[in-house]
Amino acid sequence: MAAVWAALIVLVVGDFGSTFFYHVPQHLWFTLHLRTHHDRRRSFWDHAVLSIDPAVLADGLLGAVPYLVVAALVWQISWQGALIGLLLGQFHVWWRHTTEIGYRTPAALKTPLRLLWVVLPEDHDGHHRNPDIEFGDIFRFYDAPARALLRLLEPTSRKARNAASRRVKRQPVRV
Ligand SMILES: [Zn+2]
Ligand SMILES: [Zn+2]
Repeated sequence: MAAVWAALIVLVVGDFGSTFFYHVPQHLWFTLHLRTHHDRRRSFWDHAVLSIDPAVLADGLLGAVPYLVVAALVWQISWQGALIGLLLGQFHVWWRHTTEIGYRTPAALKTPLRLLWVVLPEDHDGHHRNPDIEFGDIFRFYDAPARALLRLLEPTSRKARNAASRRVKRQPVRV
């Protein structure tokens, strides 16, 4: 039982950390995740699963740090559970990128996973089509608060700053 709890904590708390301390800040203020995970010139199956490009690996590794921290914290409760949580998390990374190679979640699996708020490959596909939606890598209950936080911090974002500096440049110079 302790192992189940430890694994669950790694997934739920790890996804919380990764969403709010990595994924959302990347979308707001940085470029690494957008250049790699949201690079439309490459297939996302390729860059999420196969690529060994250092930038792509750095994005994956930084996103995984919160899971690793939580796993270290629950190691005392059950190291087996912490490991299972990390393995399930890694498996979910591969699985949620499989729509690109033609995978569709069977209906029989969809229903229970919907009840558990688990992100399906079809959901994560939405985040690749439109980077402003479908946050939460493993659990969909992080999507609404993540989007609320993005809206709240939008005025501070890189996009807003760039738009402001473009406006300034466009104004005619008066002597
Ligand atoms: Zn992805
Ligand atoms: Zn993203």
